[in-house]
Amino acid sequence: MLERIIEFFKKLFEAFNDKGTVNPPDPHIPSPPNPFPDEPVIPDEPDDADLVSDGSDLISEPDTIGTLVFPEELEIIEPDTIISDNPTDDDLIPIDIPPIDLTDPDTTVVTPPVDPVPPTDPDTPVTPTPPVDPVDPVTPPDPVDPVEPEIPTHEPRYLWCLDNGHGRFTAGKRSPKFDDGTRFMEYEFNRDIVKRIMDKLVPLGVQIFNVVPEVDTDNFLKGRVDRANAHQSDYPKLFVSIHANAARSESQEHWADPPAKGAETWYYTGSSRGRKLASIFQKHIVQYTGMVNRGLKSTKSLYVIRKTTMTSCLTENGFYNHPKEAAELMKDEVRQLIADAHIAAILEVEKNGL
Ligand SMILES: [Zn+2]
Repeated sequence: MLERIIEFFKKLFEAFNDKGTVNPPDPHIPSPPNPFPDEPVIPDEPDDADLVSDGSDLISEPDTIGTLVFPEELEIIEPDTIISDNPTDDDLIPIDIPPIDLTDPDTTVVTPPVDPVPPTDPDTPVTPTPPVDPVDPVTPPDPVDPVEPEIPTHEPRYLWCLDNGHGRFTAGKRSPKFDDGTRFMEYEFNRDIVKRIMDKLVPLGVQIFNVVPEVDTDNFLKGRVDRANAHQSDYPKLFVSIHANAARSESQEHWADPPAKGAETWYYTGSSRGRKLASIFQKHIVQYTGMVNRGLKSTKSLYVIRKTTMTSCLTENGFYNHPKEAAELMKDEVRQLIADAHIAAILEVEKNGL
């Protein structure tokens, strides 16, 4: 079919190039010699009626092609079946492409050559690929800045439930604004200290359960206690809640009046083990940071040390509504000292027991 369409257009163009003479030239009659071989042959201006504008006339007007002489086998193609309702000159370009009749068994469709595989000479032995010697080790590339693997050398004695107290949504628990507009946020400080402790102790093999790793929580008192109590461990559990302190003030936007500063550690009233645990933390905090020693304090009202089913204590590491101490608590080096004090206390208890 494609071939026929192309033939049709070929004849159509030949017809128009012959200035309206619809009969194609007889190929057996030689063309008359050009009387002016050195001059270009200038075709006559075609009549308007002969102009091939956009090709659509040729197809949409059957009358135009009705005078053409077709080969007998050529079908008249209904305009609707032709490629496009409104063909353009571009649609005629395929005339220049040699037609290929895919139905003709003699037609060979030429495809791009594929790299030929050279024939194997049956007399030539095929050299097998030498097998990789499994004994020959492949030299690995030199590692870039190798990180020494942490080898836990610590023999765990307890499971430490570290409670970072408060969350982002806990009301208050922040300092008045500093001069630069920032504030000390207790939830962030507590988490930072716990993280610093874990960063050093977990690689050693100290067993630590981060009670509230998430940030977007409120005080979550019952939840944090329930988590610590429910946490399964092969080791006896100890609970340490880590905080910063605040003294009475007119409002959250005021520094404490009168000012208070220093560190203190709380335990559950009547618990001797709690008192011992608290004393070890208090001692190291004061030694490491040089903060004012406010000593040990006991209570039965602090929820996390009252409801936990294990020995517990709660450290208060400086006052965030004391302007100078709050500024200190914002410093990386001071936070690291506070974390190191907790690490020293944990390692002392791990070593000596309670
Ligand atoms: Zn707190």
